[in-house]
Amino acid sequence: MWCGLLDALFPAQCGGCSDVGSGYCDRCAAEAVSCVERRAELEVRALGEYAGSLRRAVLAVKNGRRDVARALGERLAASIRKPAILVPVPTTAAHRRARGIDGGVELARSAASRGRMALRESLVHVARDAQRGRSRAARLGARGWFVCRERFCGERVVLIDDVCTTGATLADCATSLRAAGATVREAVVVALVPNHGRS
Ligand SMILES: [Zn+2]
Repeated sequence: MWCGLLDALFPAQCGGCSDVGSGYCDRCAAEAVSCVERRAELEVRALGEYAGSLRRAVLAVKNGRRDVARALGERLAASIRKPAILVPVPTTAAHRRARGIDGGVELARSAASRGRMALRESLVHVARDAQRGRSRAARLGARGWFVCRERFCGERVVLIDDVCTTGATLADCATSLRAAGATVREAVVVALVPNHGRS
């Protein structure tokens, strides 16, 4: 409930370069080169590679900067072909509590509002206790962390997230959404981690 008050007291500041006025400024946006790649059988569009000012902005969102998430979400809207229903990749409840915001959800809300598109927060990230004590590789290799809590009737869904590395998380989300009846072929993210040298 303090968010509105804090936003009013502290004007937006660019997550990429700290300039005051916008959560992500035009100069930083101009530095990023938009890209599109196929990852995990999805077409993934990004504002740019995960580097420089865009990387700093993504980290600012991960640290709970709502103003940066809003500004980035507004820029994502232009990358999304309509008609589409936006579905954010949610974080875990524990991360949400620690950071104060859910970055993916904030990005998607902002993009939906700017682009006048439908938004459905359909996915739940299930961080089961069973994950505790497992090796990182085992946790990352696990599937089915995302549960879709509603049904679709073939609508075109575009997944929204902050960063795409291998695409495994997006693929998990797509699988859950497809099982619930959605058509999912694309994702739009803020930044794409380059896969140079990765097989
Ligand atoms: Zn900037």
